[in-house]
Amino acid sequence: MKKVFIYRNDLKKSRVIADELREKLALKGIAVSEELTGDVDLIINVGGDGTFLSLMQNFEFPTVRVAGINTGHLGFFQEIAPEETDRLIDAYLNDELCSQKYNIVKAEITRKNGEVVAYRALNEFVLKGKGTRPIHLDIGINDSFIEKFSGDGIIVSTPAGSTAYNYSLGGSIVDPRLNLLQVAPMAPMNTTAYRSLTSSFLIPAEDQVIIKPADSKNRDLTMLYDGRELRLRDISSISFRLSNRKINLVRFGDTPFWDKVKNKFL
Ligand code: NAP
Repeated sequence: MKKVFIYRNDLKKSRVIADELREKLALKGIAVSEELTGDVDLIINVGGDGTFLSLMQNFEFPTVRVAGINTGHLGFFQEIAPEETDRLIDAYLNDELCSQKYNIVKAEITRKNGEVVAYRALNEFVLKGKGTRPIHLDIGINDSFIEKFSGDGIIVSTPAGSTAYNYSLGGSIVDPRLNLLQVAPMAPMNTTAYRSLTSSFLIPAEDQVIIKPADSKNRDLTMLYDGRELRLRDISSISFRLSNRKINLVRFGDTPFWDKVKNKFL
């Protein structure tokens, strides 16, 4: 049986669209669940990309398909326009929906006392120092030390997040069919005193990025995951790798990824 869960932000426009959607689904005999239960086979998210990110974080990255109706600004995940709601319902009823899988990134944070905590993100993790001071970090890939980074911070993004903060920092846009992580520097210092890579680099899905404070003065960090802020103390190391879990974004199937990039950015 077809069953839909509707998630939305608190904007009046989103409330109106979600109410209309509920009525239209009921008229077509489609059940609407008040909660994200195991038998839901489609989530409809009404809002902007920020709402999409909060849905993912709040429900721990559900693997069930998600269709995004855009009431925000850019709408990179939220690809469906409000006036395309009927087309979405018909395609769902006729089993004609396509979906694009997106990787998520997992961070494991190890404190000096050995405690380990994990977080996941769809767009990216950002690591910065306390306040406005530069941060000094040892960056490695698997067991190999690569560089001592000095600058504002480091951002580790997925292909999904490559068009977000990563892009503003000069990182590359990545087709979501590629399974990789991108590590981009934020204002890297590159002088005779400090030597840091000045461009982003890409690592394959099977590898992990290991970041350690360069010394005891750099153990307190600020971490952002999909825009949510976390203060970290007494850090020993943080590892980043692609998670095995992938999310499923509903698409109508007629717009290639690079056309979407062209439409949203150029
Ligand atoms: P926000 O400040 O309300 O929105 C940031 C902007 O990023 C919005 O226009 C949003 O689209 C867009 N966006 C989000 N994910 C995207 C993606 N994967 N590709 C292209 N654009 C995307 O904050 P928010 O909505 O909670 O989003 C958090 C995200 O903001 C973070 O994950 C980070 O990537 C981004 N961010 C960017 C900068 C920067 O570019 N300098 C700085 C801090 C954070 P909508 O308009 O559809 O919501």
